[in-house]
Amino acid sequence: MKSNVIWLLAILVILGGFAAWRFLTPRSLEEQSVAPNTAETATNWMCLQCNQQTKLTAREYETWRETPGKLDGKTGRGTVTAFKCDKCQTFTVVRVEYCDKHDLYYARMNLDGTTGDCDKCAREAGLRR
Ligand SMILES: [Zn+2]
Ligand SMILES: [Zn+2]
Repeated sequence: MKSNVIWLLAILVILGGFAAWRFLTPRSLEEQSVAPNTAETATNWMCLQCNQQTKLTAREYETWRETPGKLDGKTGRGTVTAFKCDKCQTFTVVRVEYCDKHDLYYARMNLDGTTGDCDKCAREAGLRR
């Protein structure tokens, strides 16, 4: 009878531990392993140095992030994610947005951490000369 209680307790401890582990595991870790490799998740990236354009699916993006030496290790650039360009070997590949009006890509975030915009649109709006 006593050993039954001990077994029951042991099972409860194991189940409780498993539940806690599931609960405490960061969601992002789970999402990383199942990042979809589909066209809908693709984002546009471009090298600011040589204008080489790349489309990255969510999974490709994760793969790049996890590849040693691919992501800029320096954090002095704030929140900007800059990957290493295969062509010119500099950390200047950033996420870009497309401007329909001028048919060009521009950095969402500049390497200095400022918000990017379409240079031509900014000029037209008189924000820049
Ligand atoms: Zn490049
Ligand atoms: Zn524009």
